[in-house]
Amino acid sequence: MASIYVTRKIPTAGITLLEEAGHDVVVSAKDGVLTKEELLQALGEKEYDAVLSLLTDSVDGEVFDAAASAKIFANYAVGFNNIDLDAAKERGITITNTPGVLTDTVAEYAFSLMLAVTKRIAEGDRFTRKGEYEGWAPELLLGSDMKGKTLGILGAGRIGSGVAVRAQKGLGMKVIYYDIKENEDLEKEIECTFRASVEEVLKEADVVSVHVPLLDSTHHLINAERLAMMKPSAYLINTSRGPVIDEAALVEALKNGVIRGAGLDVFENEPRLAAGLSSLENVVITPHIASASDETREKMATIAAQNIIDFLAGKKPENAVA
Ligand code: NAD
Repeated sequence: MASIYVTRKIPTAGITLLEEAGHDVVVSAKDGVLTKEELLQALGEKEYDAVLSLLTDSVDGEVFDAAASAKIFANYAVGFNNIDLDAAKERGITITNTPGVLTDTVAEYAFSLMLAVTKRIAEGDRFTRKGEYEGWAPELLLGSDMKGKTLGILGAGRIGSGVAVRAQKGLGMKVIYYDIKENEDLEKEIECTFRASVEEVLKEADVVSVHVPLLDSTHHLINAERLAMMKPSAYLINTSRGPVIDEAALVEALKNGVIRGAGLDVFENEPRLAAGLSSLENVVITPHIASASDETREKMATIAAQNIIDFLAGKKPENAVA
């Protein structure tokens, strides 16, 4: 029997799977993100053999050293920018993620954010609740049609491709994309065109949807200079990671009509928002819930648990990223 520490309550299916495999599971009792000190203290209380971490945990060398017997950290997310991979490698620690199961859910969500902002759905909801609706009017809250418009995908991996397919098949949008590599599977599935740079996509697209992982190379991929390349009628959607966009620059762009609107599920300094963002009408903001469906969160829990079970049984976990 191995001991496993789970840094926050996750759907029961994952915990049950670990317990049914004969392991002892300790779940953090705090209903919230553990501070670094709390995490270090919790890990030092027992000799854990594995840790199930969340994207809100900053996992670095100090954390690995506090759980010296744990040779696997299974992250409950597809992104793993919260983990210091070099520190893990130095210590021979295996890191896993939960890819694939979030793809459809997050693609549906990005698609929904696009419609929410271009059709002014959240704004219309606020307007109606405030009692400002005084009857149908020909020019009340006019938005944009998507049919025939160009969707620009930045990062055409699993989720980016899912959004591209939905936008073309569902809405009749033209799709262009930029990625560090061409995606032949996507080009076979729908009519879409690779562009050789981020700039080309920004200049041409009516909606830009961002799906790159957060890396040094993608930090502030969208900054003031690049926002200025977009059409004033264009929209920006981000369901990837907050720091991919310079949020202060985006607030300025939204205020000054550099672009028309944005849909954001992630923020540069979560859970804090950039100054001025929440008072803008032309942005739809949601609290990092793109993967938050009953089905997906349960699958993420079982995948993270299975990665730990396989590792502890001496097998290579399916989703090892380091
Ligand atoms: P993926 O690895 O399948 O796709 C990422 C794509 O980005 C790849 O095709 C890769 O080649 C490309 N890429 C990498 N660096 C690039 C660069 N510098 N410029 C352009 N393209 C680049 O990952 P995925 O499953 O599609 O997930 C994408 C990201 O979405 C994750 O890394 C995660 O951060 C984020 N995510 C967010 C949520 C949420 O709740 N909002 C949920 C799931 C995933």
